Amino acid sequence: MKIKFRNYISSFLFIILLLNSLEITTYCMDEEKVIYLTFDDGPAGKVTTDILDILKKEDVPATFFLIGDQIKGQNELLLRMKNEGHSIGLHSMSHNRNNLYSANERFLKEMLDAQNIIKEITGETSNILRFPFGCNNNSYHLKPELVELLHENNLKIYDWNVDTTDGANNTASPSTYIRKCKSDENEIILLMHCGYLNKNSVKALPDIIKLYKDKGYTFKKINDTTKELYHYIK
Ligand SMILES: [Zn+2]
Repeated sequence: MKIKFRNYISSFLFIILLLNSLEITTYCMDEEKVIYLTFDDGPAGKVTTDILDILKKEDVPATFFLIGDQIKGQNELLLRMKNEGHSIGLHSMSHNRNNLYSANERFLKEMLDAQNIIKEITGETSNILRFPFGCNNNSYHLKPELVELLHENNLKIYDWNVDTTDGANNTASPSTYIRKCKSDENEIILLMHCGYLNKNSVKALPDIIKLYKDKGYTFKKINDTTKELYHYIK
């Protein structure tokens, strides 16, 4: 009798485990795959305009991390970004490594200055930012003190987890960027650029969008509810 009872218990447990694993499988299959297209170093005349045209045609949103000193005379591009449903983020005033990473207060000031300029044009306060050259670069490695300072000022940090490499090498072929952009991560923040020299990024963009549409990804823009992305290097 005891043995039978044990058998009964183990069958019961087996069924529970089976049901659980089925549930997990279904959950994985249903999980939404998301890509955030991000463009740094704009606004920049024709290149940024061409990128906006492609995004409009493909009907996908993106995020633009703008350089404050570059905005003058290009208000229309910012208004287009806003009106066409994209996010605008901060990418400093100067994009100058030596200035930016000389002191935390300096870094913060450049971001707040860019925030002010963008607000004057669009009427909206941007609280999302990207570190020029990334949170960890040749001049600086991210420290908790700076993260705290930025958070105290209601700013959120977004690095990337996939890089087209169009920033490091803006003359590489479009096919290089298309190859480099490939990833199977469930959540991708893709680094691209829309600066004056990024003509080949324009050429690569339609294929990059197609690739991720075909893979079933949802295109989203970063806003201040998006989970931050940064890390520390020891
Ligand atoms: Zn940049």
